[in-house]
Amino acid sequence: MADLEEVLPALAAEMAERTDRGDVANYIPQLGKIDPQRFGIAVALTDGRVVAAGDADETFSIQSISKMFTLTLALGKVGDALWRRVGREPSGNPFNSIVQLENEQGIPRNPFINAGAIVVTDVLLAGHQPREAIGEILRFAQFLADDDTIIVDREVAASEQATGFRNVALANYMKAFGNLQHAPELALGVYYHHCAIAMSCRQLAMSGRFLAHGGRNPATGHSVVSAERARRILALMLTCGHYDGSGDFAFRVGIPAKSGVGGGILGIVPGVASIAVWSPGLNENGNSRLGSIALEKLARAMNWSVFAP
Ligand code: GLU
Repeated sequence: MADLEEVLPALAAEMAERTDRGDVANYIPQLGKIDPQRFGIAVALTDGRVVAAGDADETFSIQSISKMFTLTLALGKVGDALWRRVGREPSGNPFNSIVQLENEQGIPRNPFINAGAIVVTDVLLAGHQPREAIGEILRFAQFLADDDTIIVDREVAASEQATGFRNVALANYMKAFGNLQHAPELALGVYYHHCAIAMSCRQLAMSGRFLAHGGRNPATGHSVVSAERARRILALMLTCGHYDGSGDFAFRVGIPAKSGVGGGILGIVPGVASIAVWSPGLNENGNSRLGSIALEKLARAMNWSVFAP
């Protein structure tokens, strides 16, 4: 197997040269300001080592990667009852699509498309003020990464709040079907803030370690979720983590992963590693263009796949 200490810097150098970087998400104005030349990657191995290269310590907007945190918390709160309000099937549609909600009575296809994540956020709001729910999600990210410097970027949250008309439509539509318990603006306020959590590749890779280690933090041995729940979260990441690009990502890279429109991707090699990569330019499915390419190359170099022994 190749040496990660050599592979990652070489990968970062190769990615720095590429000109086909995709387009930065500009439907959230604050994200449109990010330099597309950035590229970072960090790998937290279950043996405790962390190897990083490029802009691995620069923070970026994790956006939909936060949906892994919220799904994990909501399953902890309501367990399998969650599946009465959200499905577990790939959508085959863009992340912010409204079309399936009509046919499927306001039950979103999965917890990783925007509609599904807004329902998950509504679950986390129960019994809380929005500020408390945001705090709970942020503290969970800090706990998983073992780093309490992680913050919510309020400018990004405000920027999305000012322009999130599609999410407003999704939330109102689901409210009309009775699949939102709180006022749409409350669920959306929490949703925008958890999407606006800012983390570096190093912090993000650290936060995914429990998924690479059967639900336990490999450093402390403490259980975050049961091994069965970790497997199920990974199954959803593999099948739904890249929206309508999920099949292609599984085909090319072969590991469960969750992307965000900030250009980050969190990928998990069960038993081995938690990987975070960041390059702000997106491909046509709203997933990091160079991030996907880098993960494909890394998985090949290290022979990492959930489909191979
Ligand atoms: N906050 C973004 C939105 O709702 C998340 C999208 C994403 O990262 O895929 O549009």
